[in-house]
Amino acid sequence: MITQHEARSVAILGSTGSIGTNTLDVISRHPERFNVFAISGYRNISLLASQARQHRPRFIVVPDADSERRLVSELDGLAVEVLVGEQALVEIAEHPEVDVVMAAIVGSAGLRSSIAAAGAGKRLLLANKESLVVAGHLLMDAARAAGAVLLPIDSEHNAIFQCLPATLPHQGVQSVLLTASGGPLRSLSLSELEAVTPAQAIAHPNWSMGQKISVDSASLMNKGLELIEACWLFDLKPSDIEVVIHPQSVIHSMVRYRDGSVLAQMGAPDMRTPIAYGLAWPERIDSGSAHLAFDQSLQLTFDKPDRVRFPCLRLAEEAMAQGGTMPAVLNATNEVSVQSFLNACIGFTDIAHINERIMERMGSEAVESVEQLMEIDQQARALAVQAIAEQG
Ligand code: NAD
Ligand code: MG
Repeated sequence: MITQHEARSVAILGSTGSIGTNTLDVISRHPERFNVFAISGYRNISLLASQARQHRPRFIVVPDADSERRLVSELDGLAVEVLVGEQALVEIAEHPEVDVVMAAIVGSAGLRSSIAAAGAGKRLLLANKESLVVAGHLLMDAARAAGAVLLPIDSEHNAIFQCLPATLPHQGVQSVLLTASGGPLRSLSLSELEAVTPAQAIAHPNWSMGQKISVDSASLMNKGLELIEACWLFDLKPSDIEVVIHPQSVIHSMVRYRDGSVLAQMGAPDMRTPIAYGLAWPERIDSGSAHLAFDQSLQLTFDKPDRVRFPCLRLAEEAMAQGGTMPAVLNATNEVSVQSFLNACIGFTDIAHINERIMERMGSEAVESVEQLMEIDQQARALAVQAIAEQG
């Protein structure tokens, strides 16, 4: 039976990134279902202009007046309104004509617009895991109060969402199994890890992603951030979550039930699958992803994570256990230390050292507001920059 749909109007915040371009790819396969209402970018203005020519959004958001000038000249008279700055991202996220917000900005820069979309009761497709890490309580409260539909795009959380019972409370669930590929440095010794270059760290074996999350995957910080993300999304404690190394990235996560059943969601490592799931939920649509083949040998192996060689996972567990503003501190210092590693200013193993030092220096406070969290974020960044300068 063919059903008629009214096209959903989608705002893609962070459209020039890895998740953003994959979202536009899925949308372009279903022009009858989705309209691109707005897109946003940061540095890659030429890509933003070419996306505008192809998808004809009503609005484009850029960070500053200089980017606006360059974009307008590249658009060459195309009928689209260009908006500037973080407040414009918030206005788009809340815009009455927007049905769906894809939150695909990287880092805590995506926080305000994610909370705005939740508070406006949108369908929020949350790729920006950092906003849950920094302000999980505020984001979940805002979504609940406004009746927003929050669908996780992170592949693991999307898998868990698919494997959990549809109704709350999650009856009969024993634990959640959060899978991790282990990244490209999984089998290196501690001394080999000290000498790792940025190029080695971002060469992920299974997924093609932005640079920051690729380094986080190599350090297992990504799994740590995802553990915090899962606690907020599914109302879990860290002790409810088992991290499992699964190098093939075929199983995207699992749910263990009291009766002995384990439900897993599998698929090719292609973010278009969770993106298509979020866009069309509760329906299923073609995503463009290759289908898994079972007529040839498919190896699935599992292992335990090593918190000694990869201390960032332990730091995230500790941050969540301490609670309050500590996850925000960890997220901020990690953004600085990862960037500093990518700039070849510190070594790979220094990422965890700097993060741990700043967590100890800052301590934890009770969460009060987004403003307070953004201030803590700035303080932690400043301390991390200082610690890196002293070390160099
Ligand atoms: P990316 O670096 O490829 O893209 C980031 C996007 O954010 C770009 O559009 C960029 O222009 C924009 N941006 C960067 N800094 C900004 C700022 N200060 N203000 C406004 N916009 C800014 O990153 P990505 O890999 O697409 O990841 C995006 C988010 O999705 C991250 O939170 C990441 O953890 C999450 N995620 C990504 C993947 C993946 O496969 N790439 C998987 C799971 C979760
Ligand atoms: Mg993930």
